[in-house]
Amino acid sequence: MEVQNVDLTISAVAEKQYPNTMFPEIALVGRSNVGKSSLTNVLINRRKFARTSSQPGKTQTLNFYNIDDKLYFVDVPGYGYAKASKASREKWGKMIETYLTKRDQLRGVIALVDGRHAPTDDDISMHEWLVYYGIDVLTVATKMDKISKGKWNKQESLIKKTLQINDEDFVLFSALTKAGKNEVWQWIEGRM
Ligand code: GDP
Repeated sequence: MEVQNVDLTISAVAEKQYPNTMFPEIALVGRSNVGKSSLTNVLINRRKFARTSSQPGKTQTLNFYNIDDKLYFVDVPGYGYAKASKASREKWGKMIETYLTKRDQLRGVIALVDGRHAPTDDDISMHEWLVYYGIDVLTVATKMDKISKGKWNKQESLIKKTLQINDEDFVLFSALTKAGKNEVWQWIEGRM
């Protein structure tokens, strides 16, 4: 999809603030710093629309990005930020759980993992949780430009094996080279 207009409709902290539209919604989840804002910016062809994190873990809101009045990207605050307080982690958990389990407009979740490493325990829990709730998941391995092409296959196998995912729901991505951008869009368009 060639995106024309993007607009941050709301940074929601509560369910009643979610947009009352029936546009399909695609949520993005991942550890702080994994590259969620960078992926969003590549998908919408903007340099710095979604904020890239200077303070990881600070964004405790669900950010609804209206894409051409056709679709919402819902940026879910990054998990696994060690310094967040227990209270803020619990609050985070409740908000995310409510959104991901109750939102009729949600068509799928893009779950980001750092392509350079094996998925963390948090990544694994998140993935298992999404699968448990029957949510459609696309796993995107980010920052692939940081590892040599010769190692891509091995890294792909490791991530897929650790998360127990199949071929169709996995993309290797780089915000720098834009590798994987079309595949991610294809997955999204298949759910609109
Ligand atoms: P977020 O916290 O998940 O939104 O992560 P950001 O998108 O802010 O990215 C965190 C850091 O990783 C920033 O310094 C980005 O420039 C960098 N980054 C994100 N994606 C990529 C990528 O694909 N390649 C490279 N080389 N750096 C990336």
